[in-house]
Amino acid sequence: MQMDAVTPKIHFDCTLCGECCCGSMKVFLNSYDLFKMASFLKMNHSDELFKRHFVILDQGQNTLNLPRIRFKTKPFPFCPHLINDLQEDLGLRGLCSLHKEHKPLICQLAPFSRKLDLKTGEDEFTYTLPHPGCPGSSGIRVLNIEEEKASLAKELDFEKRYYTLLSQNEEDSQFLWSFPLTQTFENLLTAWEKGLKP
Ligand code: SF4
Ligand code: SF4
Repeated sequence: MQMDAVTPKIHFDCTLCGECCCGSMKVFLNSYDLFKMASFLKMNHSDELFKRHFVILDQGQNTLNLPRIRFKTKPFPFCPHLINDLQEDLGLRGLCSLHKEHKPLICQLAPFSRKLDLKTGEDEFTYTLPHPGCPGSSGIRVLNIEEEKASLAKELDFEKRYYTLLSQNEEDSQFLWSFPLTQTFENLLTAWEKGLKP
């Protein structure tokens, strides 16, 4: 992935080519992403995401096993939430069935990516092309990172709290991806922060 130091505004316009939802991309998920996805799929428990093969655990940062979307493999690797839409000119558009409010944070943030420092609580955003050949970078639409951060403030806060809990519970982190959807995510997160694990 190409990474550039972030500038407040960039030119980018997604053409919906779908390339960043295929191939060897790894879409790691935080607890709220799992909550949103399970809720969209009308599941009662996040475990169903694993049982029905939407999500697997895979080695992520710091060699920890973390949840990520399990891509389908045939006829080629692609995200199970990708929908191809045939246009009048017979061109294909790649749409996300989770768009917008159920989409994983990492996908919502693209083409920006976030690096969190849990010791200081500081985060840094970089302009990261979602796919090496991404045509979005030729677009003229202006994207402002500050506006993106403001619109995703709640989810960015959830993610920071998720990683804090993860760092405090590295040996016993399963509760972060195995939970019922019987209460709001905010209540669930607050209970975990109080040490109330299911
Ligand atoms: S590769 Fe770029 S243009 Fe294509 S869907 Fe992803 S973000 Fe949009
Ligand atoms: S969740 Fe949506 S945006 Fe993210 S990889 Fe899958 S189809 Fe693409």
